[in-house]
Amino acid sequence: MGIKFALFSLRFKYIRDSEAKVMDMKKQNENITGNRHNRRLNGYVFGIILVVANLFMVFPIMAQNDIKTIVIDPGHGGSDGGARGKYTRESVVALQISLKLREELAKEMPELKVLLTRDKDVLPGGLSDVNGALRWRANFANENNADLFISIHLNATPGNQRYENVKTGTKEQTYYAYSGKGKSRKKVKKTRTVAIYEKHRLPPSVFGTQTYVLASDYYKGKVAAASKASAKMEDYEQGDEEGVEMPEMDPVEARIRAKQYAKYFFQKSLTLATYCEEEFAKIGRRSMGVWQRDWAAAAGIHVLTATQMPSILIESGFVDHWEEEDYLKSDEGSEAMAKSIVEAIKRYRNGLINPENLTTQKTQANVTE
Ligand SMILES: [Zn+2]
Repeated sequence: MGIKFALFSLRFKYIRDSEAKVMDMKKQNENITGNRHNRRLNGYVFGIILVVANLFMVFPIMAQNDIKTIVIDPGHGGSDGGARGKYTRESVVALQISLKLREELAKEMPELKVLLTRDKDVLPGGLSDVNGALRWRANFANENNADLFISIHLNATPGNQRYENVKTGTKEQTYYAYSGKGKSRKKVKKTRTVAIYEKHRLPPSVFGTQTYVLASDYYKGKVAAASKASAKMEDYEQGDEEGVEMPEMDPVEARIRAKQYAKYFFQKSLTLATYCEEEFAKIGRRSMGVWQRDWAAAAGIHVLTATQMPSILIESGFVDHWEEEDYLKSDEGSEAMAKSIVEAIKRYRNGLINPENLTTQKTQANVTE
């Protein structure tokens, strides 16, 4: 798939280069009186070559029916710890799940090549800046011709950081009052009994898994992102991805990638994401379903915008939910998550090899726009 995609990418470069060539040809036509007929004929021949090239390059992508390389991307790392739990950080737990996932994949599908963007608690690529590392993650997947990109994260929400004031006792408080009028006005020291309150954290109430895919329609995303989609998901992004900006992408490049994604990768990403959420539900996790994130609001899942293959981002649970933190940090929990993802990949792969088994549309997962 990678090579085919490389060809596909080349195609865009080829068109851009060829547009430059056509411009050159036009200039030459204006400046030099040459054989116009020949030049026009060259243009036609060139056009036909482009059309044929397109056909050859597009169809092999559609015919792809298995996967060879998977890139697993543990989110954050090192100086970028991600969301905070009571005693651990997102970067640590995401790595733990990712390492288990690599282990389980090696057991279950040893024929697959499995690569991690990082296998230590550091930013990948030996980098120290978060945005550079994000670009590195995507480039790593692209350069290794990955057929799947799976980013592992954990969530946090202000909904889990609620406090209440609890009365723990009383104390005597001194205050001053005035009595009398005119020259007989006096300042009088008085005491009163006041309540003592202590700030107590309320038990976290938001928990569960979410899997993100990019929305299929870039243009729709640009309009919708600012309103409902971001309003709805704002909560879940705070505390996570702190201070991370979306890496800059040339708008033309972004549009081309968005179209490629919509055409070739959206359905596949959605299928895999759906399977993951279904598998999480099977092991008793609370599945919050599959979420679509618009491109313009993709700050939390920016790494997906730059990868040229089906890609998903799993929010494995809320690290600021005490029970989920314990569960995900435990060997059993992280292993169960890894096994669920392996099951989802198996089903996805089975669907590629036997398209009649693909059950993309009949999903119980909640697809949110
Ligand atoms: Zn994260």
